[in-house]
Amino acid sequence: MSERNLRYGLIGANGKMGTEIQSYFSLFGDVCVFKKDKGFSEEIETPQVIIDFSSPDAVFETVELCKKYGSGLVIGTTALMQEHFDALHELANYVPVVQSYNFSTGIAILKRLLKEYGAYFEDWDAAMVEIHHNQKKDAPSGTAKILKQALGREVPISSIRVGGVFGEHTVIFSNSGETIELTHRALSRRAFAIGVRNAALFVLTKEKGFYSYDDVLASAG
Ligand code: NAD
Repeated sequence: MSERNLRYGLIGANGKMGTEIQSYFSLFGDVCVFKKDKGFSEEIETPQVIIDFSSPDAVFETVELCKKYGSGLVIGTTALMQEHFDALHELANYVPVVQSYNFSTGIAILKRLLKEYGAYFEDWDAAMVEIHHNQKKDAPSGTAKILKQALGREVPISSIRVGGVFGEHTVIFSNSGETIELTHRALSRRAFAIGVRNAALFVLTKEKGFYSYDDVLASAG
């Protein structure tokens, strides 16, 4: 998926993910031709695709930018409300939109494991612990919410905000005699940047529609 050079736009360009995305994409000769952050905007040319890792506040403006440029969107911002999803689905009538609360391949695999094997734990207690850096604004994490959805049952979620942890999610199953824990640990933000680039390349192959990161992975075979 990595043979093409991208000319992309980035919302949240000065943030932690924005910085990592630029650093990773530059390894492929990709050029960031449109940058936006709070109180700052730089336009060099029309982006083929816009990437948004910023804040829910930015969503409506991002949607308008995608319409203006006719660019597809890859959005990883978490803590979105129904009104944001409505706007993204409406945008998907015109351009391809990939939305995911987690762009790491490991989380996509963990989600699949929970969907396929969750029923084995029907009679067990289940709980989740998620740990992130101390600047993360939302809790529980968007990823914890999608893991809960994959499991298909109510689970208590404990959120810990400490230091610089990139993202850890542990699903715990326990009965009176034994415990199973499934842990995913992002070793760096690169885990997400790789998925974001896969999604950006995927967007270039689509006309319009609303897609998940699972769709991106499925298209890679
Ligand atoms: P961050 O705070 O380091 O960066 C966010 C950037 O967005 C900041 O530079 C901020 O100034 C900018 N911003 C805020 N509001 C804006 C607006 N209205 N317009 C333009 N720019 C604006 O945060 P981060 O760790 O880079 O995370 C950004 C978002 O991505 C968060 O929602 C986070 O939860 C999410 N995230 C998602 C994934 C994923 O895989 N989906 C992975 C990591 C982080």
